[in-house]
Amino acid sequence: MIVEMRTGTTPEEIDSVVQKAKSLGLGIQLNLGTDKTVVAILGSNTGQLSTEIFAVLPGVESVTRIMKPYKLASREVKAENSVVSINGIEIGGRRIVVMAGPCAVESEEQLIEAVKTVKDSGACILRGGAFKPRTSPFSFQGLEKAGLELLAQVRERFGIPVVTEVVDPHDVSLVSKYADILQVGARNMQNFALLINIGRSKRPVILKRGFSCTITEWLTAADYLLAEGNNQVILCERGIRTFEDSTRFSLDICSIPVVKRFSHLPVIVDPSHAAGHYLLVPAIAKAAVAAGADGLIIEVHPNPKEALVDGLQSLTPSDFARLMEELRAIAKSVGRYI
Ligand code: PEP
Ligand code: MN
Repeated sequence: MIVEMRTGTTPEEIDSVVQKAKSLGLGIQLNLGTDKTVVAILGSNTGQLSTEIFAVLPGVESVTRIMKPYKLASREVKAENSVVSINGIEIGGRRIVVMAGPCAVESEEQLIEAVKTVKDSGACILRGGAFKPRTSPFSFQGLEKAGLELLAQVRERFGIPVVTEVVDPHDVSLVSKYADILQVGARNMQNFALLINIGRSKRPVILKRGFSCTITEWLTAADYLLAEGNNQVILCERGIRTFEDSTRFSLDICSIPVVKRFSHLPVIVDPSHAAGHYLLVPAIAKAAVAAGADGLIIEVHPNPKEALVDGLQSLTPSDFARLMEELRAIAKSVGRYI
């Protein structure tokens, strides 16, 4: 951490910064310039300290953090890639893991139709929301517990792991009874009570990026899960909000190599919520695989025209089958397979 003192600061003010650092067990390096003094604060955990500790002291002009605020998600703590294993399916290895299914579980018939088609095309994990975080309270909120029961039924019958969202911190144990992977939605990335409960549950979790959150905030949120001893964390880029309004969100393709550089956690991409339109989904999905994503989560509906949620961005079974073929070629070209 770098503490820049104001021009004309007094020796007492400089000393108060030095004493504060020492009281926290930190080292210091003083740089006495002709006009200004800069105090470098040294220590292995300065990333986790608030810059305000020094910013409030008299004579301080600014405080700049050098270390990243996240710790457990960083490559500095763990150099090698983490692999999350779900019933033998490894996320973060050479295989590109494709998760697919409807936005929301709507009925037994819909879910069975969906699982058959996505499985036939090579998806190995079924997605489906039972609890839906909807922008309006008047929109369909999901089948809730009945939706979880349908997911569990299909999971047994078709031998496919399921991922579903948990919205409320109090529902973590309920959802954990039915799902193989818990999903934290974009709107809940910084719901810290939810993250702590999921961390304690030790269940595999997909942490979606909040659409107004930086990569640093995303990785720091992942630290909440890891700090509770849950190592089965998968990150999911799903697009962020920008000035561009021709897509639902802007897929931040750059976040894939950035996350790979700074974190050991696997990262998957959700092209459906980024695009908001089924015509755009295939190109984005292919770009994500080419950019190094470890997997994809794609919305597929047996009949998108009848979907209760996100029909416009859902692929039909035949569109999904075609996309899977194209993805196989992309995966191969980057030394991976589906
Ligand atoms: C979803 O996966 O259906 C969903 C609501 O996603 P997000 O949280 O990314 O909007
Ligand atoms: Mn959706």
